[in-house]
Amino acid sequence: MNVTHLECAACGLRHEAQRLHNLCHACGKPLLVRYDLERAAVSLTKENLIGRRSDLWRYREVLPVAHDENIVALGEGFTPLLHAERLGAQLGLKELYIKDEGQNPTQSFKARGMATAVSMALELGARKLAVPSAGNAAGALAAYAARAGLAAYIFMPEDTPRANVVECEQTGAHVTLMKGLITDCGAEVARRKEAEGWFDVSTLKEPYRVEGKKTLGYELAEQMNWTLPDVIIYPTGGGTGLIGMWKAFAEMEQLGWIDERRPRMVTVQAKGCAPIVRAFEQGERFAAEFPNAATTASGLRVPKAIGDFLILDALRASNGTAVAVTDEELIAATREVGAAEGLFCAPEGAACLPALKKLLAAGQVKQDERVVLFNTGAGVKYLESYAA
Ligand SMILES: *Cc1c(COP(=O)(O)O)cnc(C)c1O
Ligand SMILES: [Zn+2]
Repeated sequence: MNVTHLECAACGLRHEAQRLHNLCHACGKPLLVRYDLERAAVSLTKENLIGRRSDLWRYREVLPVAHDENIVALGEGFTPLLHAERLGAQLGLKELYIKDEGQNPTQSFKARGMATAVSMALELGARKLAVPSAGNAAGALAAYAARAGLAAYIFMPEDTPRANVVECEQTGAHVTLMKGLITDCGAEVARRKEAEGWFDVSTLKEPYRVEGKKTLGYELAEQMNWTLPDVIIYPTGGGTGLIGMWKAFAEMEQLGWIDERRPRMVTVQAKGCAPIVRAFEQGERFAAEFPNAATTASGLRVPKAIGDFLILDALRASNGTAVAVTDEELIAATREVGAAEGLFCAPEGAACLPALKKLLAAGQVKQDERVVLFNTGAGVKYLESYAA
């Protein structure tokens, strides 16, 4: 195990690794896992990745679980990076790729984060796990908790896509549907967790979901033969994937695997819930809660993100940007991607396409650049969104 400690992303305070933590004990901001990367590099090399297991645990030395028997796995990660030639040609782009995260267990990239979070919860002795969710985090927690033999307590808005509710019930979770948004569900978990003995695995309120999601960055580099694209377009809710990839790039540079160049990171949000876009445009480091949040892309319906400053820092440090698209645009984009590439995207993933079109039109992405879109889930989980 190469973890040295946990570090507050805001104030830098060190926290001991081998015990359960939520937020920083001093300032209440997210904790990040730090590794002895020199030690990791002894057994983890680009060359010896060949032939390792084809899930995210292939990057074992830079993942936090101490003992192999605590790994809770369902086949998460190592999803295909598809060259979208036909869609690219329609846009005048030669090198357009889609990372298809819909092929994960529970059909979204939430599987990555929950695989590592549940493995660590098991290792560190938590027995009841609770989460507020816009939908896919709930499905993933329910599945991984069942796989680990732990209990899952799930709180979702009552208008969450039906597939998310059914998958949680059918994998044995305790499901509560609430009036309101994910923030209301989060408040309910916070209010009850102490009395109930729940460990809170909310986005970025525990340190290990980011560790699973960061493998997106390792995979991208491995699948692009240890280069990175020019532009990454990422549908952003709580931001774990973007924050995770940014962390992975820094780790890979320290491992000596990549140089200091970074992709321009682009956040996509829905016009009806765009707190990060608004904060980016206004030059703020933190994003105020977005009022009356509404979008059919349920994974983007996150009016307030605790990792807001980490998302915004990465966008700015990478010379990236933030773009909002309408629900009409993202729903129409699903069929465009589907008909061109045979991929039924989640609405969140589809949102990357209208964002890319806007950036091309504004000259912020050039046609000779390598662009990666993240399809973060599978469209089949959102039949309501496509009913009309
Ligand atoms: C949760 C989710 C997102 C947003 O991911 P974050 O890491 O919270 O930014 C995007 N798409 C889908 C399908 C999701 O489930
Ligand atoms: Zn702190």
